[in-house]
Amino acid sequence: MTGKKENFQPIHNNRINLFVCGPTVYDDSHIGHDRTYIAFDVVARYLKFKGYSVFYLQNITDVDDKIIKRAAERGESPRSLARKFEERYLEDMRRLGVTNVNYYARATEHIPEIIGQIERLIELGYAYETESGIYFDESRFEDFGKLSHQTADDLKKHRIEPDPTKRNPGDFSLWKKRQDGEEVTWNSPWGPGRPGWHIEDTAITETYFGAQYDIHGGAMDLIFPHHEAEIAQMEATSGKKPLVRYWMHTGFLNVRGEKMSKSLGNFTTIRDMLQKYDADSFRFFVLLAHYRSPIDFSEEALEQAKKSLERIRQAAKIIEEQRELAPDLEYESTVHEEADPSVALAKARFLESMDNDFNTPYALRAVFDMLREVNRRINEKTISQRGLEDASFQLREFGEILGLGFFASGNKPAEKAEDVTGNLIEVLTETRQKLREKKEWQLADEIRARLNELNIVIEDA
Ligand SMILES: [Zn+2]
Repeated sequence: MTGKKENFQPIHNNRINLFVCGPTVYDDSHIGHDRTYIAFDVVARYLKFKGYSVFYLQNITDVDDKIIKRAAERGESPRSLARKFEERYLEDMRRLGVTNVNYYARATEHIPEIIGQIERLIELGYAYETESGIYFDESRFEDFGKLSHQTADDLKKHRIEPDPTKRNPGDFSLWKKRQDGEEVTWNSPWGPGRPGWHIEDTAITETYFGAQYDIHGGAMDLIFPHHEAEIAQMEATSGKKPLVRYWMHTGFLNVRGEKMSKSLGNFTTIRDMLQKYDADSFRFFVLLAHYRSPIDFSEEALEQAKKSLERIRQAAKIIEEQRELAPDLEYESTVHEEADPSVALAKARFLESMDNDFNTPYALRAVFDMLREVNRRINEKTISQRGLEDASFQLREFGEILGLGFFASGNKPAEKAEDVTGNLIEVLTETRQKLREKKEWQLADEIRARLNELNIVIEDA
């Protein structure tokens, strides 16, 4: 909102409530959307890495004009169409490694909250009823335009078609009264109908986060009117400002200078793309740009990214091979107590870049520089075993933060492995608990100590 970088300070200690606008599920997601979801997946990963406890919430718009229209075209019910595309969206996200959303909240499962918020807006004089629905009275909310930095005069330029039943042309819909033949409706104090688009987000965020929270994300084109409307709805309802401490908006994914969008017909669905490219190549491609910058999408650029990622993987493979060989080679034999300097430098630069508003292109440069340096020292045989171990560990950690598999075995498809690990830990902790119950303290302590060596800390509390 200030248009500046600011020091990040969550509302509650190290707890972060993060909300990102989710999809309208009437079609498959295209890679322009997916760019945003990958960007925020990395934001969540990095914040967790920094020790924050992140609650990442996304809405699913499963009631909307577009859904109703598409369903009618296909002779399906809007509900089943929405469920189908929601399922496909979630599948796309899994394939893309976008795994950090804690909860997907469907608009249709928050109708009472939506109605409650609209009722309060009416009571407070911010909303009014017409024959077609309930509208937010833009003129009553002084701060309207503060996120997009528009004055009342600027806002007048956006008018679509004037609706004589509205008080101001820019008043937006909170509740749409049922029109003839519409099947998707809910009862409300204003008769059957369905929610407008903007209100679902604030009804959902208020439910899980309260009136104020830390970060709101989304694509840049949502700033106006969508996010402006969210601010108006929630700040008017609660009287508390600001709705969110930090707004983060992703740049567009452009094709030949034009924003990729459904309406322009220049889109590639992620499903089509994943037939030719692996998910990591696309993620890598996305992360080569800062999240706020536009990305020019072309197959050549994607191909380029794929090759760069291949180079990292190749370097990773060499490091792994050397790690295995190292004890037999005449490497520098002194045992370094301190971290390898090239690795330590790379880590410092990586963190500095990520701390600077999630500057992933600079962070990736640090990864490349580290690998070049490590590779040079491998060739010159001047790297120690410790150096190789450090490089291997560090590369894995970089990969986890960015959600990229840098190793052939993958540091990501660990999903299954993680399940097993989790189960194994449970077996061990349960066994240990039984030992403690039998007062076999020594054995119990030994299990704890051994797990500790693996960085698994057990606390008896
Ligand atoms: Zn939204």
